[in-house]
Amino acid sequence: MKKGTIKNAIGGLFRGRYGADQYGRFLLIFALIIMVIGMITNNVAGTILMGIATGLIIYAYVRMMSKKPQKRREENRVYLYRRNSVLAFFKITWRKLKEGRSYKFFKCPKCAIVVRIPKGAGTVQITCPKCGEKFIKKA
Ligand SMILES: [Zn+2]
Repeated sequence: MKKGTIKNAIGGLFRGRYGADQYGRFLLIFALIIMVIGMITNNVAGTILMGIATGLIIYAYVRMMSKKPQKRREENRVYLYRRNSVLAFFKITWRKLKEGRSYKFFKCPKCAIVVRIPKGAGTVQITCPKCGEKFIKKA
């Protein structure tokens, strides 16, 4: 068998299939982490974790092999939206830990961006730097 033939065979296998996306990669990495925890957990919990990891890998594979790209793209979009929300939450939590002593944090009621005001500034009108919404808060 020539090299090109193998390449064509693999190419044929994935033709018309959805393939990998960010959500798929996340599922595989998550499955791998669960698997490692499962391996070092030497009891029933470990077996359950291995089962969950196997299920996730099968699910990730089925998604990659899917012939309904629109549905998969929608799943990926929802995943990215949630991931960004989680990242934003950790980012703001980190900032609050770091700067919480000298600043108060407020969420813009319109666009939800977080702005900080020095503590002790009193009642101030805040203009959102992103959307221009004005709101009054006490810092
Ligand atoms: Zn805003």
